[in-house]
Formats: sequence, structure tokens, C-alpha cells
Amino acid sequence: MTIDLRSDTVTKPTPAMLDAMYKAKVGDDVYGEDETVNELQQVAANLFGMEEGLFCPSGTMTNQIAIKVYTQPGNELICADNAHVYKYEGGGIASNSGVQAKILQGNRGRITAQQIEEAINNDDIHFPVTKLVCLENTSNRGGGSVYDINDIKLIRKLCEDKKLNLHLDGARIFNVLVEANYSAKEIGEQFHSISICLSKGLGAPIGSVLLGTNKFIQQAKRVRKVFGGGMRQAGFIAAAGLYALKNNVERLKEDHAKAKQIADILKQKSFVKEMMPVETNIVIFKLHDVEKAQQLVEDFKRENILIGKISSDECRMVFHLDIDDRMMKILIETIDRIND
Ligand SMILES: *Cc1c(COP(=O)(O)O)cnc(C)c1O
Repeated sequence: MTIDLRSDTVTKPTPAMLDAMYKAKVGDDVYGEDETVNELQQVAANLFGMEEGLFCPSGTMTNQIAIKVYTQPGNELICADNAHVYKYEGGGIASNSGVQAKILQGNRGRITAQQIEEAINNDDIHFPVTKLVCLENTSNRGGGSVYDINDIKLIRKLCEDKKLNLHLDGARIFNVLVEANYSAKEIGEQFHSISICLSKGLGAPIGSVLLGTNKFIQQAKRVRKVFGGGMRQAGFIAAAGLYALKNNVERLKEDHAKAKQIADILKQKSFVKEMMPVETNIVIFKLHDVEKAQQLVEDFKRENILIGKISSDECRMVFHLDIDDRMMKILIETIDRIND
């Protein structure tokens, strides 16, 4: 048995989810004829109070489509310096859209209206035209940190004043929604577009949905085709997403409790220098010895536990629905045994 804490993307579909996939009614989604895809898009859009949804193979694609729709080559977007759109999408901002990013140092991935205001370029032929702001909630590299809704509202107000579009990378927005004091609809009101992932904590094997207005989704559909993301009988995978939305949202709290429990144990170990506050399902910690992250990864690996190394002295564990109580017990015993 392997205990895989590298990411919440590693989950495998359960028999019940596979059954839902097997029974899905499908059609050619490029013709708009797959009723399961259509249902998923509508369910996701309704949940956030958005007009329409577009099913895509990955969260990278939904983010990159949004950027492409909102910008022209030579424009600039604003995001955090550790944002997924900037750091982990293979330079797609530049290569797909010919856009450059102005990156801001956030508080565990969260940026403020004041920072953004200072980063917006004046109308001057020397400067690229600022077009778009991208937020990430929870922030992946920020250790699963959650935005305060009031901070988001200030950013939205600024974007209205400056005529900028505001996109949410909501790969882990459901981890936010089970913890924060705001609803999916309240989030939907603040953003022009939202990308949600079904393949993270929700446990579906594949899939993301891009949400926005009818007009935006019409343009997004065109870009998806160009990016090679127009899929045919995609209802088989959309069915997994529908199943996940119905059954796997509330249980995310269990992952968060497990993450907090392990963070508390790790904090006691002398090799841990600093622990990021754990707000959701991600545990990120810094080690005293620089260059020691790789060794810790290997120490765990010998015990069949896989953890992530995110820099030379930082490790990451992500909790998800394939981590059960028996695995937790083994993990705790292993941490106890690992030398200080
Ligand atoms: C995982 C993730 C994505 C999308 O990743 P894909 O692997 O392309 O689905 C986007 N944003 C964040 C913050 C993520 O963690």
C-alpha cells in the first residue's frame, strides 16, 4: 500500500463514481449534443450563479482560455508571483496569448486591491495595457490559504473602476466553500469568470469547468477548439464530475481535519523550522537544513509514503479522499519514527 500525499490529483474513481460514468448518456459534445456534459455545465454554472459553463480537460486549459479571451497580444495581466497561471502553466500566458504578467508578492498567495491598483499601468504608449487580474482561491503555493470575501470585493470594485476583467483560478474553490463564511453564489458575483477543478479534492479523474456569461463562454468555446480541447463523447468523464459535485464536497472538511492533525504533529519535530498555517487540505513546511527536502522525501518513500518537495528546503503534503484512517495511523507512526 502506498500513501500518496504528493497532491490531491492522485485520487482514483470509486466504484460508485465508475458506475455513474458507465451509465452516462453521451453524444458528440463538439456538436453540443452530449447531455451529461450539458448537465454538468449547467449544474456548475447554477451553483455559482453564473450564466454558462464550459467543460474542459484541465484547469490549465480553463485558465489559459480565460486569459486568451480577455486579452490581445502585448497586454498585461496582474497576478501573484506564485500563481498557478504564472508559475505552473508552462509559460502559457506568453505562448498562448502573447501577454506578459505583472507579478505581485502576496500574503501566502493572496494579493490586495491596493497592490493591484499600484500595478495597473497608466494610459501611456510606453506601457503595456493592463487588461486582467487573476486571483487564486485557495492558493496552492500559499499552502491552501483562503481569501477573505471583503478583500475580494475591494478587488472587484477596483476592477470595475478600471475596466479590468477579474478571473478566479478556483481549482480548489470547494475547499474554500466548506471553510469560509461565504457561498458559491457570493463568489460568483465577484468574478467575471471562474475556473473550477473536478480532479482535485473532488476526486474525479479528469475535468475542469470554466464559468462566465453566455457571451464569454461563446468566445471560450472557440478558443477551446483552437487549443484542441473540443471533446466528443465526453459525458463519460463529465458523469464523474457530476457525481463528485453531488457526493464529494461536504467531505472535504475531513481532509482539512487530517491536514491540521498532521501539521500539529510535524510542528513538534525538530527538523521542521516553520509550518505554514493550515487552512484547508495542504500542509507546507520548511526544514532547518537547506537542501534537506529531497532527503526527507526519500525517508518517507522508504516507508511507502510519497510527499512533495516544492523547493530545496520545503515539503508539501496534500490530503484527499483516498487517505483513510488506516493510512493516517501509519503516517503518524512513521513521522514519530523519523529521526529528528
Ligand atoms: C491543479 C491546479 C490547476 C489546474 O491544473 P491541471 O492539472 O491543469 O488541471 C490550476 N490552478 C491551481 C491553483 C491548481 O492547483
